[in-house]
Amino acid sequence: MNIFEMAKIPLEEAIGLSKLVPGAAAVIEQPERTLEVSLPVKMDDGTVRVFTGYRSQHSTVLGPAKGGIRYHQNVTMDEIKTLAFWMTCKCAVAGLPYGGAKGGIIVNPAELSEGELERLTRTYVDKIAFIIGERKDIPAPDVNTNAKIMGWMMDEFSKIAGQYEPAFITGKPICLGGSLGRNAATGYGVKVAAAEALKRKNISLAGSTCAVQGFGNVGSWSAKLLYDLGVKIVAVSDSRSAIFCAEGLNPYEVENHKEMNGTVAGFAGSQAIGSEEILELDVTILVPAALELQITKDNAAKIRARVIVEGANGPTTPEADKILDGNGVLVVPDILANGGGVTVSYFEWVQNLNRHFWTEAEVVSKQESMMVNAFRQVYDTSVKFGSDMRVAAYIVALNRLAEAMKYRGMF
Ligand code: GLU
Repeated sequence: MNIFEMAKIPLEEAIGLSKLVPGAAAVIEQPERTLEVSLPVKMDDGTVRVFTGYRSQHSTVLGPAKGGIRYHQNVTMDEIKTLAFWMTCKCAVAGLPYGGAKGGIIVNPAELSEGELERLTRTYVDKIAFIIGERKDIPAPDVNTNAKIMGWMMDEFSKIAGQYEPAFITGKPICLGGSLGRNAATGYGVKVAAAEALKRKNISLAGSTCAVQGFGNVGSWSAKLLYDLGVKIVAVSDSRSAIFCAEGLNPYEVENHKEMNGTVAGFAGSQAIGSEEILELDVTILVPAALELQITKDNAAKIRARVIVEGANGPTTPEADKILDGNGVLVVPDILANGGGVTVSYFEWVQNLNRHFWTEAEVVSKQESMMVNAFRQVYDTSVKFGSDMRVAAYIVALNRLAEAMKYRGMF
């Protein structure tokens, strides 16, 4: 089954429970548009390589489309469409005035020089420029993209528009209109979601243990912020290796080690474990913060965590969800748990539109209250419908989308 069809399984369950008018459900099941572009890039050796990129706008019902751009060798159009659909639902759950979008380029950025990466980035912006903009579709970072790449994109788009266009993209460097708190925002949201989930389970955060799969932006910030609250981080992994230490790892030091060595492997005092093993450790909190489809029917029964907080998009398959639910594992779904990033992206956009900047404390306190509120709504919905939190999150999203469609006169 392709990933887009798989992603719709909990959505169908939510549609059934929330008794949406059929028109609304049908609209949500397809992206509004998906663009495929070819990207010729002059390489450093003088040859030309043609890359493929995508931008999918799933919905603009609640506002302009919004979502990140990833650079990865395994990007497919179906994956990007699925990620765009998740963005629509994520923004609706968070209560943001946005629809959903996602973009991607099929490339392993580690194989490109900095100059090649910049030329690829600028070519991609040139090719999708006609469908993006501060009131149309607002990109952001995602897997293997960062503030520096957003800065190039902002520069290229501003050149095309012939004017300064900071609000067309979020996750920018602070000096180009980025927001304080945006870099840590997704990890901060994971921390808030983990704290709320443990409260519902009557487990105290301090003294609990955590394993984090993926040590990029989301995983490293989740680990650091949970560590700051007294959570023992017993294992972390990156795309190549996984490390474990029963006494707990200091994620700040692991980050320094990774910066110097390119991997978490070999961190002093840690032992190497298998990359599947990290998901199956006896921990309180498991944070999958890597890629899609990591927790499947094959390993779900082996998971011993009490709570899973999905830092990644789509790490758990629908079959695994049922197994975890049956075993009493509370799964805080991606469209709620990792909504902190896009929430602070929204703050960045608001600041850019107003040409007025907030302090980090303002950003953090607004983010905290929005996420606690979203968590409460989803949790209460799950209790009301007797569903898991993923289906409940879709119910919350669907209700907002259906109401907006109704008042737009779409059915
Ligand atoms: N890429 C992030 C996500 O998947 C952030 C998107 C954004 O800030 O627009 O939620």
